Amino acid sequence: MKEFELIGRYFQRAAPSALLGVGDDAAIVRTRPGHDLHVSADMLVEGRHFFADVAPRALGHKTLAVNLSDMAAMGATPRWALLAIALPRADEAWVAEFAAGFFALADAHGVELIGGDTTGGPLTLSVTIMGEAPSGRALRRGAARAGDDIWVSGELGLGALAVRHRLGWLNVNDAELLAAARHKLEYPEPRLALGAALLPLAHAAADVSDGLMADLGHILSASGVAGEVWADSLPSHPLLEADRLAYLDCLAAGGDDYELVFTAPTAKRDRIEAAAAACGCRATRIGRVLDGQGGRLLDAAGQTVKLHKEGYDHFG
Ligand code: ADP
Ligand code: MG
Repeated sequence: MKEFELIGRYFQRAAPSALLGVGDDAAIVRTRPGHDLHVSADMLVEGRHFFADVAPRALGHKTLAVNLSDMAAMGATPRWALLAIALPRADEAWVAEFAAGFFALADAHGVELIGGDTTGGPLTLSVTIMGEAPSGRALRRGAARAGDDIWVSGELGLGALAVRHRLGWLNVNDAELLAAARHKLEYPEPRLALGAALLPLAHAAADVSDGLMADLGHILSASGVAGEVWADSLPSHPLLEADRLAYLDCLAAGGDDYELVFTAPTAKRDRIEAAAAACGCRATRIGRVLDGQGGRLLDAAGQTVKLHKEGYDHFG
Protein backbone atom coordinates (compact mmCIF):
# COMPACT_ATOMS: atom_id res chain seq x y z
CA MET A 1 0.00 0.00 0.00
CA LYS A 2 1.37 3.38 -1.03
CA GLU A 3 1.64 6.45 1.17
CA PHE A 4 -1.23 8.29 -0.53
CA GLU A 5 -3.52 5.26 -0.51
CA LEU A 6 -2.86 4.88 3.19
CA ILE A 7 -3.66 8.53 3.88
CA GLY A 8 -6.71 8.46 1.63
CA ARG A 9 -8.12 5.30 3.10
CA TYR A 10 -7.47 5.84 6.79
CA PHE A 11 -6.98 9.53 7.47
CA GLN A 12 -8.89 11.48 4.84
CA ARG A 13 -12.19 12.37 6.43
CA ALA A 14 -14.70 15.12 5.84
CA ALA A 15 -13.93 18.17 7.99
CA PRO A 16 -17.03 20.30 7.61
CA SER A 17 -16.05 22.92 10.18
CA ALA A 18 -12.70 23.67 8.48
CA LEU A 19 -12.46 25.83 5.36
CA LEU A 20 -10.04 23.27 3.88
CA GLY A 21 -9.09 19.85 5.22
CA VAL A 22 -6.79 16.95 4.19
CA GLY A 23 -5.56 16.95 0.60
CA ASP A 24 -3.92 20.29 -0.08
CA ASP A 25 -0.56 21.73 0.95
CA ALA A 26 -2.13 23.25 4.05
CA ALA A 27 -5.46 23.24 5.82
CA ILE A 28 -7.45 26.43 6.47
CA VAL A 29 -9.49 27.13 9.59
CA ARG A 30 -11.30 30.11 11.01
CA THR A 31 -12.21 30.45 14.66
CA ARG A 32 -15.62 31.71 15.65
CA PRO A 33 -15.84 35.48 16.14
CA GLY A 34 -14.80 36.54 19.63
CA HIS A 35 -12.55 33.51 20.15
CA ASP A 36 -8.80 32.92 20.34
CA LEU A 37 -7.00 29.99 18.70
CA HIS A 38 -5.17 27.72 21.18
CA VAL A 39 -2.46 25.54 19.59
CA SER A 40 -0.34 22.76 21.08
CA ALA A 41 1.66 19.70 19.99
CA ASP A 42 2.45 16.47 21.81
CA MET A 43 4.47 13.53 20.53
CA LEU A 44 4.49 9.84 21.49
CA VAL A 45 7.60 7.73 20.87
CA GLU A 46 7.73 3.93 21.13
CA GLY A 47 9.61 2.73 24.18
CA ARG A 48 9.39 6.17 25.72
CA HIS A 49 5.68 6.95 25.92
CA PHE A 50 4.20 3.54 25.25
CA PHE A 51 5.21 -0.13 25.31
CA ALA A 52 5.93 -1.67 21.89
CA ASP A 53 3.15 -4.24 22.29
CA VAL A 54 0.34 -1.79 23.09
CA ALA A 55 -2.85 -2.37 21.09
CA PRO A 56 -2.94 0.03 18.11
CA ARG A 57 -6.49 1.08 18.95
CA ALA A 58 -5.40 2.18 22.43
CA LEU A 59 -2.46 4.00 20.91
CA GLY A 60 -4.76 5.86 18.52
CA HIS A 61 -6.87 6.93 21.48
CA LYS A 62 -3.92 8.00 23.59
CA THR A 63 -2.18 9.89 20.78
CA LEU A 64 -5.16 12.22 20.57
CA ALA A 65 -6.09 12.08 24.27
CA VAL A 66 -2.81 13.55 25.51
CA ASN A 67 -3.30 16.48 23.14
CA LEU A 68 -6.93 17.02 24.09
CA SER A 69 -5.73 17.05 27.69
CA ASP A 70 -3.60 20.11 26.91
CA MET A 71 -6.67 21.87 25.54
CA ALA A 72 -8.58 20.93 28.69
CA ALA A 73 -5.81 22.43 30.80
CA MET A 74 -6.25 25.74 28.97
CA GLY A 75 -10.03 25.67 29.27
CA ALA A 76 -10.15 25.53 25.48
CA THR A 77 -12.50 23.51 23.29
CA PRO A 78 -10.54 21.41 20.77
CA ARG A 79 -11.67 21.66 17.16
CA TRP A 80 -9.00 20.57 14.68
CA ALA A 81 -6.03 18.20 14.71
CA LEU A 82 -2.99 17.53 12.51
CA LEU A 83 -1.46 14.04 12.73
CA ALA A 84 2.20 13.44 11.86
CA ILE A 85 3.24 9.79 11.98
CA ALA A 86 6.37 7.78 11.28
CA LEU A 87 5.60 4.09 10.66
CA PRO A 88 8.19 1.29 10.38
CA ARG A 89 6.02 -0.32 7.67
CA ALA A 90 2.63 0.16 5.99
CA ASP A 91 0.78 -2.45 8.07
CA GLU A 92 -2.83 -1.89 7.03
CA ALA A 93 -4.45 -3.81 9.88
CA TRP A 94 -2.37 -1.83 12.38
CA VAL A 95 -3.22 1.52 10.78
CA ALA A 96 -6.93 0.64 10.61
CA GLU A 97 -7.00 -0.10 14.34
CA PHE A 98 -4.96 2.98 15.18
CA ALA A 99 -7.32 5.16 13.12
CA ALA A 100 -10.36 3.57 14.79
CA GLY A 101 -9.07 4.51 18.24
CA PHE A 102 -8.10 7.99 17.11
CA PHE A 103 -11.39 8.80 15.40
CA ALA A 104 -13.58 7.33 18.14
CA LEU A 105 -12.15 9.89 20.56
CA ALA A 106 -12.10 12.66 17.92
CA ASP A 107 -15.77 12.07 17.11
CA ALA A 108 -16.70 12.00 20.79
CA HIS A 109 -15.37 15.54 21.15
CA GLY A 110 -16.21 16.97 17.73
CA VAL A 111 -12.55 17.19 16.68
CA GLU A 112 -11.76 17.11 12.95
CA LEU A 113 -8.53 15.77 11.42
CA ILE A 114 -7.51 18.37 8.84
CA GLY A 115 -4.00 17.29 7.83
CA GLY A 116 -0.70 15.84 8.87
CA ASP A 117 2.32 14.01 7.54
CA THR A 118 3.13 10.33 6.97
CA THR A 119 6.66 8.96 6.67
CA GLY A 120 8.59 5.74 7.21
CA GLY A 121 10.67 5.49 10.36
CA PRO A 122 10.70 4.35 14.00
CA LEU A 123 7.11 4.40 15.31
CA THR A 124 6.40 8.00 16.34
CA LEU A 125 3.06 9.77 16.60
CA SER A 126 2.66 13.50 16.85
CA VAL A 127 -0.51 15.55 16.97
CA THR A 128 -0.89 19.29 16.66
CA ILE A 129 -4.16 20.26 18.25
CA MET A 130 -6.08 23.47 17.71
CA GLY A 131 -8.93 24.69 19.84
CA GLU A 132 -10.69 27.84 20.78
CA ALA A 133 -11.78 29.74 23.86
CA PRO A 134 -13.54 33.08 24.28
CA SER A 135 -11.09 35.90 23.53
CA GLY A 136 -8.78 36.75 26.38
CA ARG A 137 -9.90 33.79 28.51
CA ALA A 138 -7.55 30.93 29.38
CA LEU A 139 -6.38 28.90 32.38
CA ARG A 140 -2.77 30.07 32.19
CA ARG A 141 -0.10 28.51 34.37
CA GLY A 142 1.04 31.91 35.57
CA ALA A 143 -2.29 32.99 37.05
CA ALA A 144 -2.25 31.29 40.49
CA ARG A 145 -2.46 33.60 43.51
CA ALA A 146 -1.51 33.20 47.15
CA GLY A 147 -4.63 32.16 49.05
CA ASP A 148 -6.00 30.00 46.21
CA ASP A 149 -7.07 26.45 46.88
CA ILE A 150 -5.25 23.74 44.93
CA TRP A 151 -7.56 21.17 43.36
CA VAL A 152 -7.19 18.03 41.29
CA SER A 153 -9.80 16.28 39.16
CA GLY A 154 -10.62 12.57 39.19
CA GLU A 155 -8.18 10.08 40.68
CA LEU A 156 -4.40 9.99 40.71
CA GLY A 157 -1.85 7.21 40.58
CA LEU A 158 -3.33 4.51 38.39
CA GLY A 159 -1.42 5.34 35.20
CA ALA A 160 1.89 5.31 37.04
CA LEU A 161 0.93 2.12 38.85
CA ALA A 162 0.42 0.35 35.51
CA VAL A 163 3.80 1.54 34.22
CA ARG A 164 5.68 0.60 37.38
CA HIS A 165 4.06 -2.82 37.47
CA ARG A 166 4.93 -3.43 33.84
CA LEU A 167 8.54 -2.38 34.43
CA GLY A 168 8.73 -4.71 37.43
CA TRP A 169 9.34 -1.85 39.87
CA LEU A 170 6.40 -2.87 42.00
CA ASN A 171 4.17 -5.86 42.03
CA VAL A 172 0.40 -5.45 41.89
CA ASN A 173 -1.41 -8.64 42.81
CA ASP A 174 -4.98 -7.44 42.68
CA ALA A 175 -6.35 -8.25 39.20
CA GLU A 176 -9.11 -5.64 39.45
CA LEU A 177 -6.67 -2.90 40.43
CA LEU A 178 -4.31 -3.91 37.65
CA ALA A 179 -7.08 -3.85 35.05
CA ALA A 180 -8.21 -0.41 36.20
CA ALA A 181 -4.61 0.82 36.09
CA ARG A 182 -4.03 -0.52 32.60
CA HIS A 183 -7.24 1.06 31.37
CA LYS A 184 -6.25 4.43 32.82
CA LEU A 185 -2.82 4.17 31.19
CA GLU A 186 -4.12 3.16 27.77
CA TYR A 187 -7.41 5.05 27.58
CA PRO A 188 -7.02 8.30 29.52
CA GLU A 189 -10.10 10.54 29.32
CA PRO A 190 -9.19 14.18 28.77
CA ARG A 191 -11.10 16.44 31.18
CA LEU A 192 -12.46 18.73 28.49
CA ALA A 193 -15.86 19.48 29.96
CA LEU A 194 -14.33 20.31 33.33
CA GLY A 195 -11.61 22.49 31.79
CA ALA A 196 -14.16 24.56 29.91
CA ALA A 197 -16.39 24.81 32.98
CA LEU A 198 -13.43 26.07 35.02
CA LEU A 199 -12.77 29.07 32.75
CA PRO A 200 -14.84 31.45 34.90
CA LEU A 201 -13.95 29.70 38.19
CA ALA A 202 -10.24 28.83 38.30
CA HIS A 203 -7.12 30.94 38.05
CA ALA A 204 -4.45 28.54 36.76
CA ALA A 205 -4.43 24.95 35.49
CA ALA A 206 -2.15 22.28 34.06
CA ASP A 207 -2.75 18.67 33.14
CA VAL A 208 -1.02 15.96 35.14
CA SER A 209 1.09 14.23 32.51
CA ASP A 210 4.50 14.03 34.18
CA GLY A 211 3.49 13.84 37.85
CA LEU A 212 1.34 15.92 40.20
CA MET A 213 4.12 17.71 42.10
CA ALA A 214 6.08 18.37 38.89
CA ASP A 215 3.09 19.72 36.97
CA LEU A 216 1.85 21.75 39.93
CA GLY A 217 5.44 23.00 40.24
CA HIS A 218 5.12 24.55 36.76
CA ILE A 219 2.06 26.49 37.90
CA LEU A 220 3.76 27.66 41.09
CA SER A 221 6.96 28.81 39.43
CA ALA A 222 5.14 30.49 36.52
CA SER A 223 2.98 32.32 39.06
CA GLY A 224 5.81 33.22 41.44
CA VAL A 225 4.11 31.57 44.42
CA ALA A 226 4.57 28.61 46.76
CA GLY A 227 2.21 25.74 47.47
CA GLU A 228 1.55 23.02 49.98
CA VAL A 229 -0.12 19.73 49.10
CA TRP A 230 -1.59 17.42 51.74
CA ALA A 231 -0.49 13.86 50.99
CA ASP A 232 -3.51 12.41 52.82
CA SER A 233 -5.93 14.27 50.60
CA LEU A 234 -4.77 12.95 47.24
CA PRO A 235 -7.74 11.19 45.63
CA SER A 236 -7.29 7.73 44.23
CA HIS A 237 -8.92 4.48 43.28
CA PRO A 238 -10.50 2.74 46.32
CA LEU A 239 -8.28 -0.30 45.85
CA LEU A 240 -5.21 1.88 45.94
CA GLU A 241 -6.45 3.88 48.95
CA ALA A 242 -6.08 0.71 51.00
CA ASP A 243 -2.31 1.00 50.84
CA ARG A 244 -1.78 4.71 50.20
CA LEU A 245 1.65 4.90 51.74
CA ALA A 246 3.10 2.25 49.45
CA TYR A 247 1.71 4.08 46.47
CA LEU A 248 2.38 7.67 47.52
CA ASP A 249 5.02 8.00 44.84
CA CYS A 250 2.45 7.03 42.17
CA LEU A 251 -0.08 9.49 43.58
CA ALA A 252 2.17 12.49 44.02
CA ALA A 253 4.79 11.98 41.33
CA GLY A 254 3.35 9.45 38.90
CA GLY A 255 2.74 10.57 35.35
CA ASP A 256 0.13 9.45 32.86
CA ASP A 257 -2.91 10.52 34.87
CA TYR A 258 -4.16 13.26 32.53
CA GLU A 259 -6.18 14.80 35.32
CA LEU A 260 -6.30 18.57 35.80
CA VAL A 261 -4.51 20.29 38.67
CA PHE A 262 -5.80 23.82 39.16
CA THR A 263 -5.95 26.71 41.58
CA ALA A 264 -9.01 28.79 42.38
CA PRO A 265 -10.19 31.36 44.90
CA THR A 266 -11.76 29.88 48.06
CA ALA A 267 -15.03 31.71 47.27
CA LYS A 268 -15.50 29.39 44.27
CA ARG A 269 -15.49 26.10 46.21
CA ASP A 270 -19.19 25.30 45.89
CA ARG A 271 -19.34 26.21 42.23
CA ILE A 272 -16.27 24.09 41.46
CA GLU A 273 -17.77 21.07 43.18
CA ALA A 274 -21.02 21.58 41.29
CA ALA A 275 -19.16 21.98 37.98
CA ALA A 276 -17.19 18.78 38.56
CA ALA A 277 -20.34 16.87 39.48
CA ALA A 278 -22.02 18.14 36.31
CA CYS A 279 -19.04 16.81 34.34
CA GLY A 280 -19.26 13.42 36.02
CA CYS A 281 -15.91 13.57 37.81
CA ARG A 282 -14.65 14.43 41.26
CA ALA A 283 -12.78 17.55 42.14
CA THR A 284 -10.75 17.30 45.35
CA ARG A 285 -9.11 20.09 47.32
CA ILE A 286 -5.53 18.94 47.91
CA GLY A 287 -3.70 22.00 49.17
CA ARG A 288 -3.27 25.74 49.03
CA VAL A 289 -1.20 28.41 47.33
CA LEU A 290 1.06 30.49 49.58
CA ASP A 291 3.44 33.39 49.29
CA GLY A 292 7.02 32.31 48.55
CA GLN A 293 8.32 29.74 46.15
CA GLY A 294 8.38 25.97 45.65
CA GLY A 295 5.89 23.19 46.21
CA ARG A 296 5.88 21.02 49.32
CA LEU A 297 4.13 17.72 49.96
CA LEU A 298 3.08 17.47 53.62
CA ASP A 299 2.12 14.46 55.72
CA ALA A 300 -0.62 14.50 58.39
CA ALA A 301 1.84 15.89 60.94
CA GLY A 302 2.76 18.76 58.64
CA GLN A 303 6.20 17.31 57.88
CA THR A 304 7.61 17.50 54.36
CA VAL A 305 7.40 14.18 52.51
CA LYS A 306 10.48 13.43 50.44
CA LEU A 307 9.78 12.05 47.00
CA HIS A 308 12.34 10.20 44.92
CA LYS A 309 11.37 12.53 42.05
CA GLU A 310 8.52 14.97 41.56
CA GLY A 311 7.72 13.62 38.12
CA TYR A 312 9.05 12.23 34.88
CA ASP A 313 11.79 14.17 33.09
CA HIS A 314 13.11 12.96 29.74
CA PHE A 315 16.58 14.30 30.38
CA GLY A 316 16.86 14.16 34.17
P1 ADP B 1 3.19 17.49 1.48
O1 ADP B 1 3.87 16.84 0.32
O2 ADP B 1 2.76 18.89 1.25
O3 ADP B 1 3.94 17.28 2.77
P2 ADP B 1 1.75 15.18 1.87
O4 ADP B 1 1.92 14.51 0.58
O5 ADP B 1 2.64 14.81 3.00
O6 ADP B 1 1.81 16.73 1.66
O7 ADP B 1 0.27 14.98 2.38
C1 ADP B 1 -0.84 15.09 1.49
C2 ADP B 1 -2.04 15.52 2.27
O8 ADP B 1 -2.36 14.54 3.22
C3 ADP B 1 -1.82 16.83 3.04
O9 ADP B 1 -3.02 17.56 3.00
C4 ADP B 1 -1.52 16.35 4.44
O10 ADP B 1 -1.93 17.32 5.38
C5 ADP B 1 -2.36 15.08 4.52
N1 ADP B 1 -1.81 14.06 5.43
C6 ADP B 1 -0.64 13.40 5.32
N2 ADP B 1 -0.50 12.51 6.33
C7 ADP B 1 -1.61 12.60 7.09
C8 ADP B 1 -2.05 11.97 8.27
N3 ADP B 1 -1.34 11.02 8.89
N4 ADP B 1 -3.24 12.35 8.78
C9 ADP B 1 -3.97 13.29 8.16
N5 ADP B 1 -3.62 13.93 7.06
C10 ADP B 1 -2.45 13.59 6.51
MG1 MG C 1 4.29 15.46 3.80
